[in-house]
Amino acid sequence: MQIIDGKKVSANVKESVRLETLELKNNYGITPGLAVVIVGNDPASRVYVNNKKKACEQVGFMSEEYALPEETTQEELLELVKTLNGKDDVNGILVQLPLPKHLDDKAVIEAINPKKDVDAFHAVNVGKIMLGEYDFLPCTPAGVMEMLHQYNITVEGKNCVVIGRSNIVGKPMGMLLLHENGTVTICHSKTKNLAGVCSNADILVAAVGIPKFVTADMVKDGAVVIDVGMDRDENGKLCGDVDFENVKDKCSYITPVPGGVGPMTIATLMKNTIKACKIQNNIN
Ligand code: NAP
Repeated sequence: MQIIDGKKVSANVKESVRLETLELKNNYGITPGLAVVIVGNDPASRVYVNNKKKACEQVGFMSEEYALPEETTQEELLELVKTLNGKDDVNGILVQLPLPKHLDDKAVIEAINPKKDVDAFHAVNVGKIMLGEYDFLPCTPAGVMEMLHQYNITVEGKNCVVIGRSNIVGKPMGMLLLHENGTVTICHSKTKNLAGVCSNADILVAAVGIPKFVTADMVKDGAVVIDVGMDRDENGKLCGDVDFENVKDKCSYITPVPGGVGPMTIATLMKNTIKACKIQNNIN
């Protein structure tokens, strides 16, 4: 069994973005810029936003934070997005989800210029991903693919099972595995015989949001297990969707939580932002 080290892979990705950023500065005098918008006081969102800002510093980006109060109105938020769409030094716009309940996240995402939508959540970018002709890939699924690539794990011809069908993780994850010629099954809360389906997987991706949901009986010997979950166990400790201790010895590869998919999500965000910067400045 080998543990896939998301920290190491993400450090490699960030280092290559840092070098690319230097090149952009030296050759064109351009610094990529990311605007991060956070509304309200959700502690988990605050941690994610801080980590994103820290990653921007590491790779040499300009980052701007817009921290808005909980009572921000839809109009105020849309107005901010409109302003950011028009700012030349902002190449990527990220609105941290979830938004407070009174705000319509769909409308906010649709207001972002698709060329600055570095989360790849806008309908235009989602459509492009379906067609396989994309500029940006959603950060978490793309981060998973990057880990598979860096560990030379091939997808072609493999049985790939994704548990979860969210627009942010499960659905695009299935699509990216399909693009690489995996035979993909996407499971959800209405799936029958989930354990049976999962136990046929060569590559099993868990994106459920339930702590330690994937148990050893659901995993085939030698499977690759990718744990997207960021959950809290009964003691409030961060854990994944996979019962790591009992599953790990059955796997050929497994990602830990923390230190697996999480850091990759942020590294991909950095990749998307520099790509957005290049596209907006007509640089290949
Ligand atoms: P989500 O929107 O809540 O989706 C969860 C999915 O799991 C749904 O499709 C749901 O099915 C399915 N599900 C729930 N209970 C199930 C059950 N008993 N059997 C089978 N399927 C079941 O969650 P998400 O946004 O995709 O996130 C999933 C997890 O990944 C969370 O722990 C989240 O914190 C984590 N996450 C991590 C990162 C990262 O960077 N590491 C990024 C994003 C998310 P239905 O559609 O039928 O309801």
